[in-house]
Amino acid sequence: MRVSVIGGGVIGLTIALRLSQRGIDVSLFDSGCVGGEASWAGAGILPAVNRIDPLHALDRLKHISFDLHAELAVELLELTGIDNQWSQCGGIHFATTLGEAAALRGSRDYWNHESIPFRELTPADIRRMEPALGEMAVGSLLTAFLFPDETQIRNPKHLQALIAACRQHQVEIHENCEILDIDFSSSAVTLISDQGRFTSERVCVAAGAWASRLLQPVLPRIQVVPVKGHMLLFRLPQRRFTHILNNGNRYIVPRNDGLVLVGSNEEESGFDKSPSQEEIERLLLFAEGTLADLNTSTLVDSWTGLRPMSFDQMPFVGRHSEIDCLFVATGHFRSGLHLSTGTAHLITQLICGEKPTFDITALRPSR
Ligand SMILES: Cc1cc2nc3c(=O)[nH]c(=O)nc-3n(C[C@H](O)[C@H](O)[C@H](O)COP(=O)(O)OP(=O)(O)OC[C@H]3O[C@@H](n4cnc5c(N)ncnc54)[C@H](O)[C@@H]3O)c2cc1C
Repeated sequence: MRVSVIGGGVIGLTIALRLSQRGIDVSLFDSGCVGGEASWAGAGILPAVNRIDPLHALDRLKHISFDLHAELAVELLELTGIDNQWSQCGGIHFATTLGEAAALRGSRDYWNHESIPFRELTPADIRRMEPALGEMAVGSLLTAFLFPDETQIRNPKHLQALIAACRQHQVEIHENCEILDIDFSSSAVTLISDQGRFTSERVCVAAGAWASRLLQPVLPRIQVVPVKGHMLLFRLPQRRFTHILNNGNRYIVPRNDGLVLVGSNEEESGFDKSPSQEEIERLLLFAEGTLADLNTSTLVDSWTGLRPMSFDQMPFVGRHSEIDCLFVATGHFRSGLHLSTGTAHLITQLICGEKPTFDITALRPSR
């Protein structure tokens, strides 16, 4: 059997790898370079999840994805020699305004209900754990919580490793090949691209923020909207702190070689990826206020990426209700790096005709 995967982000690459490991012939198509869009632009945070008794399909997806990442990191290192730097470094979530503090404190019941391990920190705890934290952040701290399970992967390395592993498993990778349309009128699926036509028995659309364009003719109600996010990259001589520092939707992620990522915002401006100076300055202010070492002299790069957001902020993962050979894996919004492993696991099960590990009706593409 040959399966076409449209989109070579973290979702498409992980699906391609898992299918090829089942002995399936896989062709992967990307309109640009594989791993060049949101999956590269992201931060690689894998948040703490309910690992004890998740009930809802999304929580179960978060749970299996979290666990599968630990296994995949080891597997990719063995297969390719590339270390994706999976690290359960822990995360500190802190508030410096009354509103943020109320939101954080109000989440305690939810974390308890979801069996997510956490503990409250005092300013003295934080000074002891992360002495590099700026006096501004600690001095004006209203509340903070530690999530020991919070984990990171270095997503560009993760993508490199996935690409290398896919090549090892003979995945045919077609870059700079945009799929313009999919023809389901005969027994084989035909992809119509700017490089010609390709046929396969099944197709999985994993085209991230661009997925609606391809899916509209067969799933008219599906809506995946691009949501732009900015990221700043700083370089420090060495690693100055170890935890991921979270403040509302913004975060600071320490890589193990002194690089530090600071993100992010949410902006709906279509497919326009141009950066906004105002947003860069806002993030710079947040970074400087949290860690004095992060300033214009240590800023080395900035970029944006387009997150694929669905209307209910849940991903679309499943088979088309009427077109048996069409599978969909998109709409992962702020969690695609995290949810990629579980998504690939479920799509592989579906394509191989197996019952998925749990009921994924809630994630169906036709909802
Ligand atoms: C600033 C930022 C920070 C983030 N941080 C995190 C984080 O910390 N943790 C987390 O889990 N997630 C994070 N995310 C979200 C995460 O990056 C995305 O959810 C995830 O990358 C989506 O993966 P994808 O494969 O669906 O999309 P993409 O990586 O965008 O890949 C889609 C691919 O499809 C290709 N394509 C599109 N249309 C076609 C076509 N017609 N033909 C051929 N190819 C096509 C594109 O070229 C692209 O390469 C972040 C995102 C951003 C922008």
